Amino acid sequence: MNFAFSPPAAASLAISGSTCRFPIRRIFCVGRNYADHAREMGAVEQADGREPPFFFMKPSDAIVSAEGEISVAYPPLTKNLHHEVEMIVALGSGGANAAVDAAKSMIFGYAVGLDLTRRDIQARAKEKGQPWDMGKGFDQSAVAGAINPVEQTGHPDRGRIWLSVNGQIRQDGDLSAMIWTVADVIANLSTFVRLEAGDLIYTGTPAGVGPIVPGDLLEAGVEGVGTLRARIV
Ligand code: MN
Repeated sequence: MNFAFSPPAAASLAISGSTCRFPIRRIFCVGRNYADHAREMGAVEQADGREPPFFFMKPSDAIVSAEGEISVAYPPLTKNLHHEVEMIVALGSGGANAAVDAAKSMIFGYAVGLDLTRRDIQARAKEKGQPWDMGKGFDQSAVAGAINPVEQTGHPDRGRIWLSVNGQIRQDGDLSAMIWTVADVIANLSTFVRLEAGDLIYTGTPAGVGPIVPGDLLEAGVEGVGTLRARIV
């Protein structure tokens, strides 16, 4: 096939214990999947149970592969860049309208990630009923460590999820506090779109999100999955 110019290289992540890389198709993110974070963002508690999960996206080339200590550029047009540590689910196969019981069979592996957020731009968008894209989907907004295949991690449904800035713990939660489990999230998302191999899902962040500035060193981890280190420059 002839292209008018060279197509971009596929975005990818390292895979632990392998020389192969994981090619990224799309990046989905779940909003408000830990009650303590939903509260800190001012969400109103539902008296009649859980609200369905909701999703937003980042472009696949927003990915930053965190291999060793990496540098992430402080983005333009914000005075309030926030960290959100999240467990990432990487899909090795896809499907539509998946049953919750079948959802886990799509999972290739898990990674630790950062959903970097221009909170001031997101807040303005919320206020005006506008889309979140420019608050969430900017260049280098999706940091991700190596993917650990399911054969190594199993399916983690409990365990510490944490983030420190310059050695000070800012977020310290547990995977078991997710409002919607990984299987629930996959099943629900697959009713909106047909999921495919290469899709990543950021599964939400616990409480403690806050601002970061150039020079900060972020360290983050998910118990049984991995850690990452990123310097804001
Ligand atoms: Mn998030």
